Amino acid sequence: MSNRPNFSRREALSLLGLTAATLGARPAFAAPAKAEENSPLIYRFRVGDFSAVAVSDGFLRIPEPHSFYAPQESTEEFQALLKDWYISPDRVFLPFNVLLIDTGKERVLIDAGSGNSSDRDDPALGRAQPAFQSAGYGAEDISVVFLSHGHPDHLGGLVTTDNKPTYPSAQHFVLKTEFDFWTSPDPDLSAGLASTELKKYVLGFAQKRFPVLKDRFVKIDDGTEFTPGFKAMLAPGHTPGHSIVDIQSGSERLLHIVDLAHHQVVPLQKPAWKPTADTNPETAAQSRQKVFAQLAQDRTRVFGYHLPFPGIGHIRVSDPGYEWVPEPWTPA
Ligand SMILES: [Zn+2]
Repeated sequence: MSNRPNFSRREALSLLGLTAATLGARPAFAAPAKAEENSPLIYRFRVGDFSAVAVSDGFLRIPEPHSFYAPQESTEEFQALLKDWYISPDRVFLPFNVLLIDTGKERVLIDAGSGNSSDRDDPALGRAQPAFQSAGYGAEDISVVFLSHGHPDHLGGLVTTDNKPTYPSAQHFVLKTEFDFWTSPDPDLSAGLASTELKKYVLGFAQKRFPVLKDRFVKIDDGTEFTPGFKAMLAPGHTPGHSIVDIQSGSERLLHIVDLAHHQVVPLQKPAWKPTADTNPETAAQSRQKVFAQLAQDRTRVFGYHLPFPGIGHIRVSDPGYEWVPEPWTPA
């Protein structure tokens, strides 16, 4: 039986951090947090000799969590899982955590947040760049950019409102598989569970931005160390060339799992469930299981783009699946 969600256009687009251009243009700068808002904007930590800064690009409210995270599972089972973890289905937020690492030699940015543009119009998002600025890193300071995949919440911030590269001095890297997918004449999005309208939007978003960065991107293969201490590793399914990043300094390691998890409970407890955000849900589920198992076994420190801010912690075996163990917030 079909269990297809029935989204409004606005809801559907908002699921990927998007709002239709028809809803109106917005100012070029991210709106400051309102007085009554919590503002977890900047978090500094270390990975060996590297200084890391995680900032929040914003939070997206998920209006229909069941349809977003597990459209093929029963409502009862989904609600029971959330209830077990004391999460109200009315208060599910998708955090966007952006990571910058200063190695001493390079300032490495991994993904760029949503950015600001008329086709991504949401004042709650696009806050990464101003946050980095307040942390002391201007756009011209970034020397290396790595794009994990071509979705709007990661790619948007790489291109300015007037269609120029946001980070003019940076060498940009992306997996060749990912670049080729979005720039091919007819990218195949048919396996994903998202609506046709949403797929069209995501594709249009990428097709507008990849050409701007075309000559900047160095296209690399799976396993490439694109700058000392940073290795790109293919973890396909969310998109065909979705890449996670293995970061190492001295004896310390941090694995940026990017979009292997869009929630701290659902994809960990139920890695086989198929969220609408994945381009190929089957392959994405395999990537999750494989990487989570390895991280749990190796006790690797993890950073997640969509895990609760600042997105740092560990993944350990649970029954069922896995669970997220956040690292306590420390003052420095
Ligand atoms: Zn994402």
